[in-house]
Amino acid sequence: MKSGIIFIISGPSGSGKTTLCEKVLKDTNIKKKIAKMVSVTTRQKREGEKCCRDYFFVSNKMFLYKKRSGHFLEAKKVFDNYYGTPKRAVKERLKKGKDVLLCIDVKGAKDVLKVFPAAVTIFVNTPSFSDLKNRLVSRGSESKKTTELRLKIAKSEMKEEKNYKYIVINDKLSKATKELEEIMLAELGA
Ligand code: ADP
Ligand code: 5GP
Repeated sequence: MKSGIIFIISGPSGSGKTTLCEKVLKDTNIKKKIAKMVSVTTRQKREGEKCCRDYFFVSNKMFLYKKRSGHFLEAKKVFDNYYGTPKRAVKERLKKGKDVLLCIDVKGAKDVLKVFPAAVTIFVNTPSFSDLKNRLVSRGSESKKTTELRLKIAKSEMKEEKNYKYIVINDKLSKATKELEEIMLAELGA
């Protein structure tokens, strides 16, 4: 059986990755093929987030234990927390010929590409740095210190944009959603 496709979405914090993924996964043709893999993280749960749906929220100790036990396809410290992609869920789905979506940072993406060089990479960005700042601030999920850290790291993340197969500029949400849907459907051959 033909293995499924891995879609990797990266981009600076606040560029709209989560929003866009939620939107495209509502499309019937995409929903029946692609599942977003739930990552493990040590960061605090935000208001409105649910364990097992948005992330598996774990302690540092549990994360490091899982890492040592080979639980992750890739695992990185992003900003001040650990994040990792569970290996088994991804491999089992691919083996069945089903497709997966990973919403992970640029360093994690590089590691996944070493194992799955055919993964389809998509970088989500905002039209300008001030848009990114405004969105991150208006989301209201981070402290001032964390917002500053995320914006500082955004600059180096943006340098990786050129290494991605597709770039989606999340200007108008409906337009960016359509663009992402078109990319995915084209890659799926749907
Ligand atoms: P990320 O997952 O990349 O960190 P989010 O999806 O959480 O980013 O989006 C960051 C903030 O920007 C959220 O408050 C979201 O509602 C908002 N947002 C996302 N896309 C747009 C858009 N096209 N225009 C305006 N605001 C947006
Ligand atoms: P947030 O805390 O805003 O949910 O995510 C912060 C960053 O961590 C984002 O760039 C997001 O894509 C990334 N991220 C989320 N899950 C994973 C993962 O499993 N692995 C890696 N490497 N990055 C992740």
